[in-house]
Amino acid sequence: MTAVDCDVLVIGGGIVGLSTAYAITRAAPGTRVTVLEKEAGPARHQTGRNSGVIHSGIYYRPGSLKARFAVRGAAEMVKFCAEYGIAHEVTGKLIVATERSELPRLHALVQRGRENGIPVRELGPAQMAEYEPWVRGLAAIHVGTTGVCDFGAVAAQLARLARDAGASVRYGAGVTRIGRRPTAVAVRTADGTVLRARALVNCAGLQCDRVARLAGDDPGMRIVPFRGEYFELAPSRTSLVGGLVYPVPDPAFPFLGVHLTRGIDGGVHIGPNAVPALAREGYAWRTVRPRELAGTLAYPGAWRIARRHWRYGAGELRRSLSKRAFTDAVRRLLPDVTPDDLIPAPAGVRAQAVLPDGTLVDDFLISQSPRVVHVLNAPSPAATASLPIGREVARRVLEAL
Ligand SMILES: Cc1cc2nc3c(=O)[nH]c(=O)nc-3n(C[C@H](O)[C@H](O)[C@H](O)COP(=O)(O)OP(=O)(O)OC[C@H]3O[C@@H](n4cnc5c(N)ncnc54)[C@H](O)[C@@H]3O)c2cc1C
Repeated sequence: MTAVDCDVLVIGGGIVGLSTAYAITRAAPGTRVTVLEKEAGPARHQTGRNSGVIHSGIYYRPGSLKARFAVRGAAEMVKFCAEYGIAHEVTGKLIVATERSELPRLHALVQRGRENGIPVRELGPAQMAEYEPWVRGLAAIHVGTTGVCDFGAVAAQLARLARDAGASVRYGAGVTRIGRRPTAVAVRTADGTVLRARALVNCAGLQCDRVARLAGDDPGMRIVPFRGEYFELAPSRTSLVGGLVYPVPDPAFPFLGVHLTRGIDGGVHIGPNAVPALAREGYAWRTVRPRELAGTLAYPGAWRIARRHWRYGAGELRRSLSKRAFTDAVRRLLPDVTPDDLIPAPAGVRAQAVLPDGTLVDDFLISQSPRVVHVLNAPSPAATASLPIGREVARRVLEAL
């Protein structure tokens, strides 16, 4: 038998990796866990660059992992934040139809919410105004269980709890190689350190397909990075938005559309759009990684998305390149906003799994091979759902030990 340094190695110190480490220490105390994160601290990518919304679970197909884990995860996230003094608020949210063609989809959401056990209220324009006097629409639904929190602070707390329970969390430890033996898995980090474990968990977010390949597995998908750009409402204009306001999403996409979010700091964020990122960690148009871009362009799935969704994509590109076009889109929900009210804010990049036939993977995707568990699709609402996801991944890796 190969000598090992620990039982489970977790690659990725985002909210999913840290929740997994925490869950392992809770489910099987004494299990030796090490988290390896390439950045200098937790939550430097998706977990620290998102809308900060605790999603209710209304959107997701009943029975899907997203629906089950989001509904349960939202309640657990609120409790977790309350227990550890992390800033959060259950604000409720409106989903607003601004065009007649959106009304059937709004009604379908009411139905879906009820199927997922989420209380929703249907509102006409006058009732809408009681919640959001400056927002315009033909009809809306109010979802009471939606909230906001600081997912970066949640990730940091999960790291503390995992460490308190004996786990090791190493920052500045990017995994560059993975070797497999019948009884163990070995990784090498960028500084040449080699660590051996009985099992490995891949929670590498934007890099998860690459890490799967490093481990010798074919993930059957590829991460196509979609940047989400945000603006902030000028401080003098934040009174235009009371809480959270979302459009009716286009069911062809796993993205929810540009929304208005009053965060825990009282500021109002507007976004995110969805444009192709020219690098996996490309937070601005000027960040281009030619090899990564060439990899995306060589992937048949990327071209199939482009062919299928070129009209939607062209609109998103226009709104990314022109502040006026972005403002015009926001004005459908909030007519009083002007380009001068919008201040650019930091962007995020979504790790979206795409199949070779161009399908955007909708549900969370977790796969396994001997001694290895890969989290291959954990886009929104995975931050909301991170506690149940972590438990599920922990269950699978403990079974594999
Ligand atoms: C714009 C945007 C808005 C969103 N809004 C919401 C929202 O409102 N509510 C919600 O619930 N969800 C939201 N999400 C989704 C949510 O942020 C993600 O689902 C969640 O953060 C995923 O966590 P993760 O741990 O899988 O990924 P990440 O946070 O990206 O963590 C992966 C980690 O792996 C590390 N890593 C990668 N490769 C290696 C390697 N080789 N070695 C070591 N470490 C490595 C990375 O540095 C990174 O820290 C949003 C996402 C985006 C981008």
